[in-house]
Amino acid sequence: MNRDPDTLANCFDLTRSAGATGEHRQLRDALRRFVDGELAPHAAAWDEAGEFPRDVYRQAAQVGLLGLGYPAEFGGTPCDTLARIIATIELTRAGSGGLIASLMSHTIMLGPLLKAGGPALCARIVPRILAGEAIGALAVTEASGGSDVARMTTRATPLSEGPHAGGWRLNGSKMFITSGMRADHYLVAARTGEPGARGISLLLVDRDAPGLSRTPLAKTGWWCSDTAALHFDDCPVDADRLVGPLDGGFPLIMNNFNGERLMMAAQAIGFAIVCCEDALAWARERRTFGQPLVAHQVIRHKLVRMVDAILPVLAWLAQVAARIERGDAPVAEISLVKNHAARVMRDCADEAVQILGGAGYMRGTRVERIYREVKVMMIGGGAEEVLNDLAARQLGML
Ligand SMILES: Cc1cc2nc3c(=O)[nH]c(=O)nc-3n(C[C@H](O)[C@H](O)[C@H](O)COP(=O)(O)OP(=O)(O)OC[C@H]3O[C@@H](n4cnc5c(N)ncnc54)[C@H](O)[C@@H]3O)c2cc1C
Repeated sequence: MNRDPDTLANCFDLTRSAGATGEHRQLRDALRRFVDGELAPHAAAWDEAGEFPRDVYRQAAQVGLLGLGYPAEFGGTPCDTLARIIATIELTRAGSGGLIASLMSHTIMLGPLLKAGGPALCARIVPRILAGEAIGALAVTEASGGSDVARMTTRATPLSEGPHAGGWRLNGSKMFITSGMRADHYLVAARTGEPGARGISLLLVDRDAPGLSRTPLAKTGWWCSDTAALHFDDCPVDADRLVGPLDGGFPLIMNNFNGERLMMAAQAIGFAIVCCEDALAWARERRTFGQPLVAHQVIRHKLVRMVDAILPVLAWLAQVAARIERGDAPVAEISLVKNHAARVMRDCADEAVQILGGAGYMRGTRVERIYREVKVMMIGGGAEEVLNDLAARQLGML
């Protein structure tokens, strides 16, 4: 009996991989209903509008998306790494990286907060974020350079008197911050000590903090994602807003990058799958020279090459997920799979637009949007070159 027919959908289905359970399939099905019903129909309009309704956060919280992988005591639903990868791939079906970046911006700020923020601060902030009532953002990058985090210049100087005595005064600016305009809470990296990696701390700043202002930024893609520069001008931060040890923020930031990069890899491969599926659907319908495009050998070979680029990355992601569940921290593999998945996304987006022809160059199709979103996947969360260097160091090459 053929229990697992050899279809494209089955090949791309991580819930059929070793280690997947019925719970993974239930999660996939629930998210597919949410994405296909509530997100995908609006993705093009939201991108054109340059934002999506704030209520989408609450909807995403209600289906358990925002809380996925977070502790139950704060309203989350603990799950394994494979579940988070499957959820991220489902989200890509809306064909909008901008939507994922902003809707899920809390996922790049909650890690350090939960690890080092202490129970009181977490209890105040985390439940509202996971319920979709508040938005969280992470502010590390500066205009002078995002790759070399240890050289950041935004400074927090101690306050010895006044209403914020024991806390800090924040001065400087942050660049390219996702959810920068509408976040309610920012986890901000700032220099509190000596130059270099050992003088950086993490501080939690609220949106209405005095001295905090924001400038929206226009982008090549991710249009519906809110991206901003943040400016801190004598912005006071109370002592209880320090997250982690004083001057001990750098390891928290670096450790946090691993989760971000792994989910970016899942996102990139999800978008590659969307490109492959949309290109195939078009190639079956569109006729040139008396036959469907897919009947031209060169076109179906392009499609097969997309499949043979995607499948190894899915297997690699499942393997990295299994290693993480065993307690490993495969930093090199995470860096490399993020780079590799982004290249596969680039190649699939390129070929998909080519197969759609003029239609692929018109606004409103998923492949056109994804084509514009390739570069941010190769830069954000660590540029390709920086991650190659990190992998080389981790692998003992230097
Ligand atoms: C849309 C968007 C959203 C973002 N969201 C956030 C966010 O929410 N929070 C946040 O903190 N940051 C965010 N970022 C910033 C992102 O993490 C940085 O853009 C990234 O780390 C690269 O930093 P940079 O852009 O300053 O490039 P730079 O550090 O100036 O580097 C420029 C280029 O130089 C090359 N390069 C750099 N270093 C090396 C090296 N050692 N060897 C070889 N080549 C090198 C790479 O090609 C790199 O792309 C976002 C960026 C974008 C575009």
